[in-house]
Amino acid sequence: MLQRLYYFVILLLATYVLGQERPIALIGTILLPDQSINNGTLLIVNGHIGAVGAEISIPNNAIILHTHGVILPGLIDLHNHLTWNIFPRWKPLEEFGSRYDWQQKPIYKTLLESPHRGLVEAGLSCEMQRYAEVKAITQGTTSVIGSLRRPCNRGLARNLDDDPTLGQILYDVFPLQMIDMKLKEVNDILSSNGSLFIHVAEGSPNDATAAREFLMLKARNLLIPGVSFIHGVALKENDFRAMANASVGLIWSPRSNLELYGDTTNLEAALENHVITAIAPDWSPTGSDGLLSELNFAATWNAGLEYSLFDDRLLLGMATINPAKLVHLEKRLGALNEGYLADVLVLQLNNNQSKLNPYWAATHSTPEDVSLVLIDGKAVYGNSEIMKELVDSTNLESLEICGIEKSISFASQNGPQPSFRQTQQLLKNALRHWGRTLAPLSECGN
Ligand SMILES: [Zn+2]
Repeated sequence: MLQRLYYFVILLLATYVLGQERPIALIGTILLPDQSINNGTLLIVNGHIGAVGAEISIPNNAIILHTHGVILPGLIDLHNHLTWNIFPRWKPLEEFGSRYDWQQKPIYKTLLESPHRGLVEAGLSCEMQRYAEVKAITQGTTSVIGSLRRPCNRGLARNLDDDPTLGQILYDVFPLQMIDMKLKEVNDILSSNGSLFIHVAEGSPNDATAAREFLMLKARNLLIPGVSFIHGVALKENDFRAMANASVGLIWSPRSNLELYGDTTNLEAALENHVITAIAPDWSPTGSDGLLSELNFAATWNAGLEYSLFDDRLLLGMATINPAKLVHLEKRLGALNEGYLADVLVLQLNNNQSKLNPYWAATHSTPEDVSLVLIDGKAVYGNSEIMKELVDSTNLESLEICGIEKSISFASQNGPQPSFRQTQQLLKNALRHWGRTLAPLSECGN
């Protein structure tokens, strides 16, 4: 009897130990919101950050990785239209007054709207989303918004707008069309700590239609805490003051704004009024392929101004801690603090400037520089040699970014999955019938 009990305890212990993941210790330059730690250690234990600092003790069973790079929080994308990211860059020959303008153009309908609808009607929505999530992850993004609902969300990227464990996060492209019943539901969610993301004043800074949306939103009582305005290119200085007073946030998509409207949001007014601002790509046809490229674009735009509006640390905050604040998750995501969810990005350091200022490296990197992406403490994507150390090689699939081989793991996805190559082929075949081709994962500077 005693012997049987002994075996039972051993079995129980073995099950417990096997069920636990081995801790991972990442060594490199660690970026915290207000300082960096050279040669620091980030310890990941069971999907969470166990410890972070210059001198922390590493458990005996940990996998130790000397990254020789910069370690930062996974990027948080609060504005995207994921399924549209299968399309290559759209280069319109004119600048538009507002989003209502280009959405009526036959060229938009032919190149984007009709093929998109065609693929959705062919039942390829989940494949479109899978491709877009992989694209986001190759850009260091770990959390996305703008996803389709289940069953397409299968545990690859963190789908913020479809995850009840993270609270209620709503995303509505056209809030002025919201019926009263929906508005009541929205208000209930906002009053219980939820958040709402809406497109407002998307157009050129002097477009009257776009500017008028702010007044209409105010009249609908949507200038309230928990709401964030996407774009706001036509907003005036007073509007930013009103937003700050009402604790309303801003999502800034500079590349898409400049390509469609020839200008972008009055960021100076937003920052001066302390409106919490996050940066996001919008979509890849006119915005960036993903957040890393959008950070790079914003840093370059900022460098071209007569007086720079922000430094690299502040800009990185717009893709990490600020978006976390806007979804009320700043105690769980957006920084490398003990106890936080282990969504982590590792970038390689390439030159002296990036070694001297690691925040510069984070805002001037490209997808080639992504060494590793962890979501929930699990290695999802990265350089092949690093991925092999963290993931069973049978779960790895290789893909190429700008001529460099990387590896991706779909082990976290629920249910049986086709290979990524199959997903790509399916989309390519379908797009061919609409005279389109599948966008590359990265435009590689084009
Ligand atoms: Zn948008």
